[in-house]
Order: sequence, then structure tokens, then C-alpha cells
Amino acid sequence: LFIAFEGGDGAGKSTQVALLREAFETAGRTVTITRQPGGTDLGREIRDLVLHGAHVAPRAEALLFAADKAHHVDQLIRPALDRGEVVLTDRYTDSAVAYQGAGRDLGAQEIHDLNMWAVDDLVPDLTVVVDVSAQEGRRRRGDVHDRLEAEEDTFHDAIRAHYLAMAQGNPQRYIVVDGTHAPDEIHAQVLERLRAMGAL
Ligand code: C5P
Repeated sequence: LFIAFEGGDGAGKSTQVALLREAFETAGRTVTITRQPGGTDLGREIRDLVLHGAHVAPRAEALLFAADKAHHVDQLIRPALDRGEVVLTDRYTDSAVAYQGAGRDLGAQEIHDLNMWAVDDLVPDLTVVVDVSAQEGRRRRGDVHDRLEAEEDTFHDAIRAHYLAMAQGNPQRYIVVDGTHAPDEIHAQVLERLRAMGAL
């Protein structure tokens, strides 16, 4: 079972990943939690290069994040799924489609295709979009250090709109939760959906 958490910066994805891990472990499942970019040693180097290095051209950024995913899926995610584990990832291919495709205007379809090739067509069973407005995300992040997190609200608004459009276009594979609700309440909604899928 493969579940991705998506959404803007400061939405509360990592809190939800931690809560869901607990729920699956309580149910006796082995859980691997990971993140993108940065789920492997190579991925951490890529993350550092793109987020803390000098300016990276938009297409180079898209290719570096795609390389992170290719390695991550091959080395960590697929092997864990093959062992029958539950894999929870904090961001996956939809981040690239939203950030590089919509946010950086590189073309959502092109970035989608590039990422599907990179991950060898591995699609999550469920993608949870934790939705918050650009303003709310900025307020929660407080002091901002990452180059990307310092982008303007219009960038984050475009990303949010794209996440919502992807979710609307494929309700079987997505659930959108309101990131301004209490973490426990959001978690309960995710559990309900997983139970309805027969996954928990
Ligand atoms: O969610 P996390 O803090 O790990 O993301 C690191 C940064 O990388 C965030 O600022 C996010 O906006 C950005 N990012 C991106 N494109 C991706 C994935 C993450 O711009 N494909």
C-alpha cells in the first residue's frame, strides 16, 4: 500500500504522515515513511543542491527532482512495497507537477510525463492533498530559509490551484482535506477513507 501526502509548504503533511504511521503500526503493519526530495543519500544531496545552493535553472530543477524520485523509487519505495510494507511519502510526483509544472510554468503535462518515466509508472494507491491557502502556509512557516519557500504568494496560489484540479480530476485516487482543521480531525478523515478502501 502506497500513500502520498501532498500540499503546499506549511500545510501540515508531516504531522499527518506521523499520525498515519501510528495507525498502521497499531494495526500490525510494517510502515516505511519517507520524503521527497531527500529520501535517500543521493536524494539528500540533490535536496541540498536545489534548495540551498545557488540559482538552479527551472528545467534543471525539474530534472534534479525527477532524478531524486527515480533513485528513491528504485532503491527504497519499490523494495518496501515488494516486502508488503505500507509506504507513506511526504510529497511525490504531484509536487513536481504542481511546483515545476504549474508554479514554474514548465507545462504540467511535460512534467507529469517526465516524472512518470522517472518513477517507472509507480502511482500511489491514495494521495492525500492537505489544502491550505498561500497566506496560511506562509504564516505557519514563519521565518523562511529555503529558496523555494521564499517564493511569492502567487507562486503558492498556482500550486494550490493545481493540486485541487488534479484531485478533482481523479476523485478515486485523491482525498482533499482542509489543512486549517485540527490534525486529529484531518487524520480521522484519512482513516475513514482508508477504511472505505479496505486498506485499514
Ligand atoms: O516539503 P519539503 O519541505 O520537504 O519540501 C522542500 C521544498 O522543496 C519546499 O519548499 C517545496 O516547496 C519544494 N519542492 C519543489 N518541487 C518539488 C518538491 C518540493 O519545489 N517537486
